[in-house]
Amino acid sequence: MDKARAPQKPTEIAEQTLQRILALGITPHPRNYAVWYGYFSGDPELVRAVDAILNGGQGFDDSHGAELYREHFSYDNEGAAIRETSERVEVALGQVVSMLSDAGQDTSRYGDALAGITGDLSDGDSIEEVRAIVTRLSEHTRTMTEQNKRFEEEISRSNQEIEQLRQNLEDSRLEAKTDSLTGLNNRKYFDESLFAAARDAADVGTPLSLLMLDIDHFKRFNDTYGHNLGDVVLKQVARCIGACVKGKDLTARFGGEEFVILLPETAVEDAMTVAQQVCRTVAGKEIVMRSSGKSLGKITLSAGAAQLRPPESAEQLLQRADEAMYLAKNGGRNRAVSEYELENRLSATA
Ligand code: GH3
Ligand code: MG
Ligand code: MG
Repeated sequence: MDKARAPQKPTEIAEQTLQRILALGITPHPRNYAVWYGYFSGDPELVRAVDAILNGGQGFDDSHGAELYREHFSYDNEGAAIRETSERVEVALGQVVSMLSDAGQDTSRYGDALAGITGDLSDGDSIEEVRAIVTRLSEHTRTMTEQNKRFEEEISRSNQEIEQLRQNLEDSRLEAKTDSLTGLNNRKYFDESLFAAARDAADVGTPLSLLMLDIDHFKRFNDTYGHNLGDVVLKQVARCIGACVKGKDLTARFGGEEFVILLPETAVEDAMTVAQQVCRTVAGKEIVMRSSGKSLGKITLSAGAAQLRPPESAEQLLQRADEAMYLAKNGGRNRAVSEYELENRLSATA
């Protein structure tokens, strides 16, 4: 054997085969081609037989080709090989075509090429013809696989970009509605939510309540301990408020040291329960400096509660909750007052 038997590409084997046929001066008949193609492909029986002829020193002529062809490529063998190859190719093609059928223009072109190749296969084909077909098939498949890989990479990249954009959008949306200091909803978002909730409550006929909460003597706290510690207190109060609500309740920083809680499907009596709980929770916490462990005393809140009275506007509801809150301030702070108390007071003074 005069050639290395490292695996080669079919086109390289075909080239070697033709060169050898020309070098030997034998007829470029399919029989000779099949024998030498098999030889350069590394078919062990052909390698042994051809090498035996070459080593015998008598040269290789057409009669050797015909004999080896008869021995190694009998019709039955060839027919079985072709049938098996055709079936495998057809199964593989079916799978590949169905896998790629949705992948766009390139794939449809590929499918056409494969369909053409499948059409080229028939039981009467010689092994060389089948090999040539398989070669074309593998080249088409390689090209398509590379295109698909690029396609998949592009899709994956696009997906990542889309996901990033979606995340950025989500972040911006969240940022636009969030109060940066406390993490509660901001005034703008609250105003929109109040308007929508008031409309829904009026439409559906469910109760809607509103709590207005204001930190007591917060100016004094700021003046005593500084603005930074004041901010820490605002965050702590926000956490307490968040811990006292559930479900559809919406909390927001209304501005400065004022907070609101919007309670859909809640009557003012139940809203009062929430208000009292917030007041108790905040008043129960001692403000402690984390660095020194020094106590800064306690903070309290005053709260006012009101319930929407359709067809009044959201602004009117807000105003009543605010008035109730001021009544709580006047009543000594650290307490919750409902609009009914406000009305009793007003009628008493009328
Ligand atoms: P009252 O009990 O009557 O509500 O008294 P108050 O001192 O809380 O009310 P006032 O309206 O007189 O003062 C509110 C203070 O809240 C003034 C300001 O220093 C403080 N404040 C408002 N916004 C912030 C903030 O973002 N951070 C800090 N640290 N303080 C704030
Ligand atoms: Mg205030
Ligand atoms: Mg205040």
